[in-house]
Amino acid sequence: MDTKYLDESKKYLMNTYNRFPIVLRKGRGMKVWSSDGKEYLDFVGGIAVNCLGHCHPKVVIAVQKQAQRLIHVSNLYHIEPQIKLARLLVELSFADKVFFCNSGTEAIEGAIKLARKYAKDHSPHNKFEIITAYGSFHGRTMGALSATGQEKIQKGFEPLLPGFRHVPFNDIEALRKAVTDNTCAVLLEPIQGEGGVRMPSNDYFDQVRKICDEHKLLLILDEIQTGMGRTGKFFAYEHFNIKPDIITLAKGLGGGVAIGAVLAKDSVAASFQHGTHASTFGGNPLACAAAEATIETLLEDGFILDSCRRMGEYFITRLEKLKKDYPSTIIETRGLGLLIGMELTQAGSPIVEACAKRGILINCTSGNVLRFTPPLIVVEKEIDDLIDVLEDIFEK
Ligand SMILES: *Cc1c(COP(=O)(O)O)cnc(C)c1O
Repeated sequence: MDTKYLDESKKYLMNTYNRFPIVLRKGRGMKVWSSDGKEYLDFVGGIAVNCLGHCHPKVVIAVQKQAQRLIHVSNLYHIEPQIKLARLLVELSFADKVFFCNSGTEAIEGAIKLARKYAKDHSPHNKFEIITAYGSFHGRTMGALSATGQEKIQKGFEPLLPGFRHVPFNDIEALRKAVTDNTCAVLLEPIQGEGGVRMPSNDYFDQVRKICDEHKLLLILDEIQTGMGRTGKFFAYEHFNIKPDIITLAKGLGGGVAIGAVLAKDSVAASFQHGTHASTFGGNPLACAAAEATIETLLEDGFILDSCRRMGEYFITRLEKLKKDYPSTIIETRGLGLLIGMELTQAGSPIVEACAKRGILINCTSGNVLRFTPPLIVVEKEIDDLIDVLEDIFEK
């Protein structure tokens, strides 16, 4: 039965993904099931999207209720769930204002436009350059892919959008040197996710903030992967003791429903006025109701964030033990909360495939980094199951 789907998938869909030969049909919590009935533990979680696990009842009910009431209206009108969600995000963050869109890459486009417009409004000459990092990932539309510091993502799509300068991540001197009279902003991920779960040093963002203040640059943090509790705090910037000027959100924001957001302080947000930016679907009632339910569930009693921190530590401890046992296979384990990477001395994809055969979904990024972004509701026993499988695979 699966082969029919696989054949049709190949026949009708553009070939943009190197997919596993698995057709997923149903999910609950940490588990997903394929159309041929096989059960999987999902340590990918939509790549940091399914933060509450699959089909969390609170999100399902919120979507059902909202779908019965109102699915879509134009942003020409005020929208209740959009207002509620914006207030929640403002109360939880440094920001005063929110713009909603539908994905990560759109949030980045919004942030780039906002930074450029802010510079136009506030500096006498044409400041438009944005400094970003090598190894970064900001999305696939033309602006976001030009911001992204990876040639393989840009190749074939030139000419790129002008106005980006790339510096090595976590190299404060390189950043300082890259600032020119034309620089208007710095755009960084708190932890590079797609780039292989690359961690900043303890004082990196403190220094970045200082450079931004000295040169009057906006600090844009791409929290699309690190936000929504992924690192054990609601936003990753809370680990650094600094405040950004703009952040971008998406992935986990809707608990699985497509939604993105740009958050900014009033002084910055003021550069977006009527007609400067818009999105037909951005902030639609359905997606906002899902996001509101996701955030409320995530923060109820602080239980899930607390568990995310504890499970993250447990996870790393177990991976460190693996590293001790297989020093010729594992170079390093790193991460924060439940954004975890394990760098291997070999390609990761055979390991990912072997895990899938044994009922565990994991992901590999940057060629040789196994990445784990499970729902934040993962428990010890499930981490143990994964470690057992990895151990078995490394043994062979
Ligand atoms: C996934 C991701 C994006 C792009 O998000 P899409 O919703 O796929 O467009 C941008 N930045 C970061 C840090 C991401 O992890």
